[in-house]
Amino acid sequence: MNAPILPGGTIGLLGSGQLGRMLAMSARRFGYQVHVFSPEANSPAGQLADREIVADYADLDRVATFARQVDVVTFEFENVPRITTDAAEKHAPVRPGGGVLHAAQNRVREKRFLADAGLPTARFAVIKNAADLEQAMAKIGAPSILKTAAWGYDGKGQVRIDAIADAPRAWRELGEQPAVLEGFVSFSDELSIVAARDAAGNFTHFGPIHNTHVNHILDISVCPAGLPAAVTRRAEEIARVVMQQLDVVGVLCVELFLTGDGELIVNELAPRPHNSGHLTIDAHATCQFEQQLRAVCGLPLGSTRQRQPAAMTNLLGDLWQPTSPDWAALLAMPDVKLHLYGKQQPLPGRKMGHVTAVADSVAAARALAVAAREKLRRT
Ligand code: ATP
Ligand code: MG
Repeated sequence: MNAPILPGGTIGLLGSGQLGRMLAMSARRFGYQVHVFSPEANSPAGQLADREIVADYADLDRVATFARQVDVVTFEFENVPRITTDAAEKHAPVRPGGGVLHAAQNRVREKRFLADAGLPTARFAVIKNAADLEQAMAKIGAPSILKTAAWGYDGKGQVRIDAIADAPRAWRELGEQPAVLEGFVSFSDELSIVAARDAAGNFTHFGPIHNTHVNHILDISVCPAGLPAAVTRRAEEIARVVMQQLDVVGVLCVELFLTGDGELIVNELAPRPHNSGHLTIDAHATCQFEQQLRAVCGLPLGSTRQRQPAAMTNLLGDLWQPTSPDWAALLAMPDVKLHLYGKQQPLPGRKMGHVTAVADSVAAARALAVAAREKLRRT
């Protein structure tokens, strides 16, 4: 195993959104330097970096220069091209490796990996053209969801198909791109596990976390999820298998559906910290970002003990309408923590920040987090 990268070293980060910002905060707290590489200037992560490199991911000369100046490269965004991580890997270790990113950034490869690993997924078919879709619809039926193979997030790049006759329209709506057709899972709950693994194969995890989405965007996460012990064990086992089989060194989130009869189905993988894990910052002994830092630096993984039940609500740009939120009202509340990402433009549906509440029970934490968000609205 390589020597650990100790505090004082330099972390290279591909991607510059809020996940990178919070990683940078953990890294800075430990005294690391942070270099951020992305096409955006004055980005959430770049604002906290020692160096913000603004360049295209395909600018491999800039990627090489960046990688030479850091001790390890990690990412906060799974759509970094493979050529970028390959170029970086010539000069610094990339963790998790480019192979993990390759598997997780494309729904076809991801689904195939899951199926080969014997893990439960929704019924699916790989769609390359309209004829494939017609055949797949005959097999999978409606309702189903057509998802682009690449570049989806927050429900973008997906169309629900409610009747077989609607399939051609869905195919056109998605821009006739390579896609996956998934059978609709009538789940009772959505869960996630944020797992970490180090180079020696040690495994830790946060969760399961219980997630509620609104308009395909995560709205509220709570932990603990209050599940039967058998479901919790199964979720942990699934996460462990994913981490081992993909040989992840770093953090990866497994999104799960829980069906009415207690079965777990893997929805998708995110090879990085996850929105649902933000509550670990305020509720756990070690947060998901510190854990990512520890894992990619070859340091011992931290304790994932939860100190108090917690709930997290996202703050979307919509809250800035008609005027900016009432921060003072929220900050007057005890047991509520505000996190803002430094984004300039509060667009509708854009994740601008989040609020975490802790309490003696999950129900109380959830109520507090929701009340805190409501306080932001000036009526
Ligand atoms: P994110 O970036 O927020 O994770 P995404 O765009 O990558 O989203 P998915 O996680 O695949 O998309 O889907 C978003 C949401 O749509 C899921 O959390 C779930 O609520 C719903 N969904 C996705 N696939 C299915 C399915 N097969 N059956 C039922 N609901 C689904
Ligand atoms: Mg998802």
